[in-house]
Amino acid sequence: MSRAYNFSAGPAVLPEPVLRQVQAELLEWRDERASVMEVSHRGKAFVECAAEAERDLRELMAVPDDYHVLFLQGGATTLSALLALNLARADQTADFVLTGHWGEKALDNMKPSLQVNVAASGKAGGYTGIPPRGDWALTPGAAFLHYTPNETIHGVEFHDIPDAGDVPLVADVSSNFLSAPLDVSRFGVLYGGAQKNLGPSGLAIAIVRKDLLGRHGRELPPIFELLNQAKNDSMFNTPPTFAWYVLGLVLKWLRAEGGAAAMGERNRRKAANLYAAIDGSGGFYRNPVDPAARSWMNVPFFLPDEAREKAFLKEADAAGLLGLKGHRAVGGIRASIYNAMPEAGVQALVDFMADFARRNG
Ligand code: PMP
Repeated sequence: MSRAYNFSAGPAVLPEPVLRQVQAELLEWRDERASVMEVSHRGKAFVECAAEAERDLRELMAVPDDYHVLFLQGGATTLSALLALNLARADQTADFVLTGHWGEKALDNMKPSLQVNVAASGKAGGYTGIPPRGDWALTPGAAFLHYTPNETIHGVEFHDIPDAGDVPLVADVSSNFLSAPLDVSRFGVLYGGAQKNLGPSGLAIAIVRKDLLGRHGRELPPIFELLNQAKNDSMFNTPPTFAWYVLGLVLKWLRAEGGAAAMGERNRRKAANLYAAIDGSGGFYRNPVDPAARSWMNVPFFLPDEAREKAFLKEADAAGLLGLKGHRAVGGIRASIYNAMPEAGVQALVDFMADFARRNG
């Protein structure tokens, strides 16, 4: 057996050079005579490593100075709940635009802490597109507008930034972090788990416009107060040090590969290749998403029946193509083609799909 192409939705593929570096320095990291997992987060070596990762992330995403970059535990889900507590008073309203499962989850986790308004939802259409902007029922003066730029399960992606006027946009970018250039200054908050595009699980990132914190008027447990993490370089308590270190290596890899612009180009080519294989299959493979809203990161597709989907997954796995089973909420197949998935991996999948269709069409 050997290392395969991994299309898992997350935790997901990491760049191979990063894994090799982790392996090489696992026992003795820098001059510490211990592994990175075994040293204090307050020691000089880790503090430097953490600051380097923040610097690289700020540079790669061109994060303006009036934003905090926080490295937190609890995943995107916990972070969504914390953001609700930190960004609004209990009597304020947050608007939601739902384009899939994860937007619904964020709503569930935010709802106990503030007033919510579903401004638009693609649910009636089976989450196969983005509700037209003219139909959004936005709340004047809302505390924020939450949406999910890339819905990981349904494969629905915004390819532009919605205009919410003066209302801060809060965007869950878990599955499209650094997948292409993005104008951070258009957002109030960008947040997400690291375990798809940026690193291992256990770490969540929040990029928060500084003026939005500390205005919620609530008495929060200090550990839920994001301002405390901001004031303490995300070390108000023990951060997930190993995940932070690996994320730092992934960011160095991203820089060496040409940064967000190069990733955007590569990801566009990968997605175009895969969608062309689906659309050119004479109906054997089918992706139901509006072409204007198709995800570059997560590509769900269906075969004519479940029996052939099952055979497809089994044969793909044997051919070294892993993690292709669709999420249980929608079934079918899903190929997640994050930054670390090389173009050769997508080509291997496309070749396999053509061969499978020939034999089973
Ligand atoms: N948001 C999106 C867009 C996701 O894809 C996921 C995970 N699949 C989550 C949130 C949940 O993330 P976590 O497990 O880190 O809480």
